[in-house]
Amino acid sequence: MALIFVIANQKGGVGKTTTTVNAAAALAKLGKRTLLVDLDPQGNATMGSGIDKRSLRRSVYHVLIGMCEVRDAAQHSHAGGYDVLPANRDLAGAEVELVGFDERETRLKDALAAVDDRYDFVLIDCPPSLSMLTLNGFCAAHGVIIPMQCEYFALEGLSDLVNTIKKVHANFNTNLKIIGLLRVMFDPRVTLAQQVSQQLQGHFGDKVFKTVIPRNVRLAEAPSYGQPGVVFDPVSKGSKAYLEFGTELIERLGHLAATGR
Ligand code: ADP
Ligand code: MG
Repeated sequence: MALIFVIANQKGGVGKTTTTVNAAAALAKLGKRTLLVDLDPQGNATMGSGIDKRSLRRSVYHVLIGMCEVRDAAQHSHAGGYDVLPANRDLAGAEVELVGFDERETRLKDALAAVDDRYDFVLIDCPPSLSMLTLNGFCAAHGVIIPMQCEYFALEGLSDLVNTIKKVHANFNTNLKIIGLLRVMFDPRVTLAQQVSQQLQGHFGDKVFKTVIPRNVRLAEAPSYGQPGVVFDPVSKGSKAYLEFGTELIERLGHLAATGR
């Protein structure tokens, strides 16, 4: 059975895509069969996995509107060692087109059921909004991973996200839980970052992942080479942190399975 995680935060530029791509590559390096689902019409996770979004014959859009199966649209990322259900601008139209469908919020969930035995992990990269696309991600997932920068307004944005997750839990998907919060682009020299980090631990306790992803330029450079950072420069600080995160994630899931929390 595949464990499905959605990487979500309604803010843009907080490190969702970088986290999805590098976590997928880290899990692949650890021998896990991994599928990355790109749910953002910007297609950054697709490009960052070395797949050209401009030349897709089929994409997650076609899957959502029922024109093809996941296995027909997925491609292997040779750079990352995982499969990708890619996205491009076509996906922006899905939002409107899905309005006409019954059970439109579970389109992705239903499509992923067909590849459940093919993968150990499915990671879903979300757009920076709480839209129908993100809702499809939430409905398909067992858990949410929230990347966040330790900035002044971060906690405020977080309460909106947590409320949305609660609503989805109550109305659509009782499996959904927050797996953890990942501190990203962290700069320990900034006092505010340390303060927000402490507040976060105070509020969310052991829901905060121990691994901290530092701000590291190699992670930002990697997408222009069509590679995840952990492949592009595995010994950089950022890459080491994402590899560590892959291990922590697997450990945490073992703990979750054993204790239910
Ligand atoms: P989102 O998907 O939430 O919009 P991205 O993952 O695209 O965010 O990150 C936004 C920008 O920050 C990108 O240019 C990315 O390369 C850069 N970035 C992300 N994480 C890091 C990091 N740890 N260190 C340095 N740059 C980063
Ligand atoms: Mg993104």
